[in-house]
Amino acid sequence: MGYVATARSTTKQAIADHWSPLVSELDMGCDWEDAVTDCWRCGVEPSRGLERCHIVPAQEPFNGPDDPSNYVLLCSRCHREAPNVSDPSVMWQWIKDTHRYYDNGSYSPTWWFETQRDLWDKLSEGCQQAGVTGADEDTLTAIFAQHTGTHAGDSLNTPTLRFGMTKVIEHIAAA
Ligand SMILES: [Zn+2]
Repeated sequence: MGYVATARSTTKQAIADHWSPLVSELDMGCDWEDAVTDCWRCGVEPSRGLERCHIVPAQEPFNGPDDPSNYVLLCSRCHREAPNVSDPSVMWQWIKDTHRYYDNGSYSPTWWFETQRDLWDKLSEGCQQAGVTGADEDTLTAIFAQHTGTHAGDSLNTPTLRFGMTKVIEHIAAA
C-alpha cells in the first residue's frame, strides 16, 4: 500500500469511455461493460472499488496529465504491480502480456526489489549481460530514475525494472 491519493477530476466512467473504442476485450482481463467495476488486468471486482492508475506517472519529472487517456482502472494489487515508466505504450503492453496469467491459473507473483542495493545489483548484472561496462552506480541509477517512477512507499516491480534496464543499456551503449 502507500499510494498517495491526490485530488483528481477524471472519473472512472470517462476513463472507460476513452479506452473502450481503442482496445479489444481480448487484450484485457474484463469486458468493457464491466470496466468501471472489474480490474482491467486480472478481472476481479474489488470490494473497495477500482483504482485509477496513471500510465505516465504524475510525479516529477514525468508530469503525466490528469486526463482519461493517461489512466487505466486496476485493483489495488495490480496497481502495485503495474509499470511506472516514461513510455506510455508499456502499460497496455503489460496488460496484454499478463492478463492471461489469471485466465489459466498459472500466475506467478511479480518479483519485488526491496532495496537500492537490489536495484544496483540488477542494473550491473543486466549491463554485464549486454556487454556494457564501465558505468558507475551513480550514473546507472540516475539514468534509471529518468525513466521510472515509484508508487509512494512501494518497492520497485518487475515491469518497471525491465523498462528502466532497457533504457540504461541504451544510454550507456550510445555514450
Ligand atoms: Zn487486478
